[in-house]
Amino acid sequence: MSEQSSLKLKGQATSPGLAMGKAFVYFSDFDSLSLPQTISEKQIVEELEHIESAVRKVKDDLKISAGRIEAHAGAELASIFEVHEVMLEDSSLRDEIRDEIERELSTAAMALTRVFDRRKDKFRAHKNETVRERADDLEDLQGRLLRKIAGVRTTALEAMPGGRVLIAHRLLPSDTVALPERAVAAIVLEFGGAGSHAAILARALGIPTVAEIPEATRIIKDHQMLIVDGNSGEIILDPDVSAQVFFRSRIDQFKLETEEVKRRSHELPCVYDEMTVAVTANIGCLEDAVVAADNGAEGVGLYRTEQFYLSRNTPPSKEGLLNEFRKTFAPLLGKPITVRLLDLGADKPVEFVHFAREDDPFLGRRGVRLLLHYPDLLDTQLEALLEFAQEQDVRILVPMVTLAADMERIRRRLCELARRSGITKLPLLGAMIETPAAALSIKEIIPYADFFSIGTNDLTQYTMAAGRENPLVSGYFIENHPAILRLLGLILEDSGETPVSICGELGAQADMIPTLLKIGIRSFSVAPPLVPRVKETVRQAGRALNQSRTDA
Ligand code: PEP
Ligand code: MG
Repeated sequence: MSEQSSLKLKGQATSPGLAMGKAFVYFSDFDSLSLPQTISEKQIVEELEHIESAVRKVKDDLKISAGRIEAHAGAELASIFEVHEVMLEDSSLRDEIRDEIERELSTAAMALTRVFDRRKDKFRAHKNETVRERADDLEDLQGRLLRKIAGVRTTALEAMPGGRVLIAHRLLPSDTVALPERAVAAIVLEFGGAGSHAAILARALGIPTVAEIPEATRIIKDHQMLIVDGNSGEIILDPDVSAQVFFRSRIDQFKLETEEVKRRSHELPCVYDEMTVAVTANIGCLEDAVVAADNGAEGVGLYRTEQFYLSRNTPPSKEGLLNEFRKTFAPLLGKPITVRLLDLGADKPVEFVHFAREDDPFLGRRGVRLLLHYPDLLDTQLEALLEFAQEQDVRILVPMVTLAADMERIRRRLCELARRSGITKLPLLGAMIETPAAALSIKEIIPYADFFSIGTNDLTQYTMAAGRENPLVSGYFIENHPAILRLLGLILEDSGETPVSICGELGAQADMIPTLLKIGIRSFSVAPPLVPRVKETVRQAGRALNQSRTDA
């Protein structure tokens, strides 16, 4: 391939795929705002009100952003906006801004810029990378607040035409909200490692991404043609005709491969060690169910009900819930559906339950603990699920089980409600194994559980004593740590004939799938777009196992 006139640059591949298209160079808006700097004493009150009003509006926007990202890429990614909301509530931040306005007679915008810049500098000077990344969150919030103060409604990104390669210094969480609607061909960033919010979202949306291209926004010009290889981390500027032809055929081939893996996902059995392995989907809404069905998911291994509850101001009735179930699962009609009971706590309050404030919400009244405390909330779900189970193959999953007694109480209540309404066909009832105590008490829980589903996200959090949303301890949040794998081994050993599946993120990691299969996992539930590749990886592991047996 000849590329005399073209420039090749190498960065970090953070989301796989190949794309070719014209550049759209994005600079965040507030860089270009010309800010008035000082005020007279008379204007202090007005400027303070500007800050308060901007904070109120940004809080509303954050809720909308969280909803949009959750619909496209799941609750995990959306939680970043909840973190931003918490940051906005930090009283020391507000006090510092107020001080800056009152003492320095700064405009609201200037006070905000000074205070945020000071805080960002502190974070950026830190030696720990995850702490440094918190500066991005501050920058994002600063941009949102400044745009509100300046009355800027949209970002330039929202005006980007479809099919472009987005070039940016870095993408902040609020920037990514616009991506799903824009049909971006690829992304090239100056900053943003594989673990960044932008990279995770890009992978969830299947957008090829290359990061760590220094000065990309200066080197690359708007409308310039470029090729992005999200598999190797290479980008080629101004590819000549032969390079374009070559890459066009590689893009087509990659698409064909992806289609082929998807086709096989529908047609081929997924077998390992002569046993069929089930690959189902984790979903949170109807859109997820559509993607799951399209990708050949064999059902739903985890339906997270939180999104539905968090979007409401009043508790749903049994009929409301039943309608939601019918609507959400319609694309997967006839397939097994596992619905998790509401997994809320003081960290995720719903409008209509007046939670007690807790200092340590993740160690507090969360999941089943909360449901047992609010029987009405529990009963509505159980009643709706009992009725839904008369129409479909429904399984109920209980979150945050710690004690066998948690399961015993839920089972007793389920049986009572069934008896009251004359229902004899009960859905299967399973325990989510996501606390070390539950993992070490499988034998005690078995009498009350028809199946187990391992939530490795929380199991990692509670075993490694590292909050899953806390960037300060992300170095301890090691999902494949030997301690976790040992717990998984114990769960499988102690569960005997009771079926076990895995629904945490660990189950979707291609390099971990062979280990999980060896431990004994035969059922995976993963994000809907990942179903075909997980099935393919299971089949490959099966072939490797057969080969090693033949060789031996
Ligand atoms: C888990 O904890 O692994 C899990 C699948 O549930 P969630 O991520 O919703 O807590
Ligand atoms: Mg969990």
